[in-house]
Amino acid sequence: MTFNTIKRPFNKLKPISFENVNINDNFWSKRLQTNREISIHHQLEQLEQDFHIDNFRVASGIKKGVQIGEFYFDSDLYKWLEAASYILHTHKDTDLEKKVGEIVNLIKNSQTQDGYINTFYSTRFLHKRFTNIYNMHELYCAGHLIQAAIAHQNATGSKDLINVATKFADLLVKLFLGGKRKGVPGHEEIEMALIELYRITENSKYLKLAEEFINQRGNISKFKTYVINQYLNMISTVNLAKIKNQEYQKATESTLAIPAKESEVVEWVSKLSLKGQIIIYRENLNGNFIQSNVPVREIIKPVGHAVRAMYLFCGMADFFSETGDKKLLHALRRVWLKMVKARMYITGGIGSEKGTEGFQKDFALKNEDSYSETCAAIGNMMWNLRMLQITSKCKYADLIELIMYNAMLVGQSIDGKEYTYDNPLVSHGKDKRSEWFRCACCPPNVARTISSLGNYIYSTSENGIWIHQYIGNTANINIGSNTIKVSQKTGFPWRGDVKIMLNLRKSQKFSIFLRIPKWSIKTELKINGIQQSYNRSSGKYVEIIRNWLDNDSLDITFRMKAKFIESDQRIKNNRGRMALSNGPLIYCLEQKDNKDLDIFTASIKKHQDLNVKYQPEMLGGVNIIAGKVSSGKNFTAIPYYAWNNRGADKMQIWHLID
Ligand SMILES: [Zn+2]
Repeated sequence: MTFNTIKRPFNKLKPISFENVNINDNFWSKRLQTNREISIHHQLEQLEQDFHIDNFRVASGIKKGVQIGEFYFDSDLYKWLEAASYILHTHKDTDLEKKVGEIVNLIKNSQTQDGYINTFYSTRFLHKRFTNIYNMHELYCAGHLIQAAIAHQNATGSKDLINVATKFADLLVKLFLGGKRKGVPGHEEIEMALIELYRITENSKYLKLAEEFINQRGNISKFKTYVINQYLNMISTVNLAKIKNQEYQKATESTLAIPAKESEVVEWVSKLSLKGQIIIYRENLNGNFIQSNVPVREIIKPVGHAVRAMYLFCGMADFFSETGDKKLLHALRRVWLKMVKARMYITGGIGSEKGTEGFQKDFALKNEDSYSETCAAIGNMMWNLRMLQITSKCKYADLIELIMYNAMLVGQSIDGKEYTYDNPLVSHGKDKRSEWFRCACCPPNVARTISSLGNYIYSTSENGIWIHQYIGNTANINIGSNTIKVSQKTGFPWRGDVKIMLNLRKSQKFSIFLRIPKWSIKTELKINGIQQSYNRSSGKYVEIIRNWLDNDSLDITFRMKAKFIESDQRIKNNRGRMALSNGPLIYCLEQKDNKDLDIFTASIKKHQDLNVKYQPEMLGGVNIIAGKVSSGKNFTAIPYYAWNNRGADKMQIWHLID
């Protein structure tokens, strides 16, 4: 996801890439630093330990062995490579640069003569490639390779990886374009990646292929038979892989640590309850699981696997941006509304069904066992950024803010070494963060999001500069022939004060559009110290048009107040309960801060003055909310993103209310 080549003729806003935005923020700078100094290196060690890199050594022929792990393992390394490339773009790190170079070489040398890369197939049974695009994620992996390659080229100027990715994309065009193969990509990702590749290469065949993949959804004849055949294919392919590994082990008397582990996918399904298994089979056969239940232009509600849905919507939005396909945009607007009104948690998390990692029916948003995968939150941010650029509507930027500070941020521990995969809204003390997951999609996804966070702050339009997020930074933004240096200082997310400074060589008339967050109770605005009376309605952009001069400044205060949020009464498990929020943050009670209470049975007094206090020593520095429960005892609430950073513990977001 990088924006160096601007196309998108149907968008209202033009993106400003993170490369032009230098983040220097009270809150986020620490996160970015931890991400680049700790997480990215720590993740590489995990990828090494879990054979993600070794698989490429085997595929490239420099090491004898077999591919180990899941069929989608390559994608996790690609996502890491994308994150590492973003980091290299903004910070010099010779050690990281060297490691990136080595991995790029391995990938390059793993490519077959005709352009194919996938270590699961190429090391064992190349002839079986693309026989199962429903289950086996080759196109998903290809999509992540393309995105990593674009990021790598931008960061280093090297063409090494982009040439590899383009060659692979050309093979996909050759094998698929023109409806040459029946099937639908089971895990979306290739669609947006091909459109990103189209933007930098101007090869319209990539756009065309993305269109075909998008249009195939919901249009596969004899779908149930197709799905059953693909599942049979998956079982036999995974088994064959296992047999091949065993044969290798026998022949070489190898003592590999995990030579032939059962496929986690097969294990995962077999460990589910009977009900969970029935749901998986039903959702696959009716097409919901992979969003192939209806043709995309007829989509009304988000269904199935939540990450897949988000990546599809990103691809659809990208396709609209290039072609102006209005029916696609209408479908996206409809499905967004449905998601926000009935299928999304208060944290911005999505996907409440564990078995399918996906959406359930309206208002079925249980807190225990809620899935809310970190990757789904990230996909949701990515989709909303696209919707924002297309429409310039404030609600998309508001939602990005909510997800960013809650559903996404909870996915990485404050020390940058541990992660969550699913994110419950209540915990009985058994949910622990992990250093790594065998299915390692989330950790590198967080890393690439944080390292490119600058993408979310600004846009431009013909009229001027749009400020979507309040994060301390300095950015260089071109308006006409003028380069405007925009500097932000802010107390977010703890305080609602923002100072914006403009530096420009020559005065210029243009607009600044400021997002007034939906949560702002009252907004004050001063320009060069003078109070302004613009309409400052929450949940909208205020347009300030004037002839801007060098050193002009804006002071904005968004008043935030700790408050209770009532749940929609249609969510059964939240009836009689309320959640706490302050500004963009959702709060929770963690048992260790509330030793005198049972957080699950205590009722919080609805009518009381809540106290917000900054605690610099706690959890890396947080605002806590303090108040009383009905027995008169005190409670302490912490931001949801910060829970589970002091070991597993009981936690709750929706509280009983007195
Ligand atoms: Zn994930």
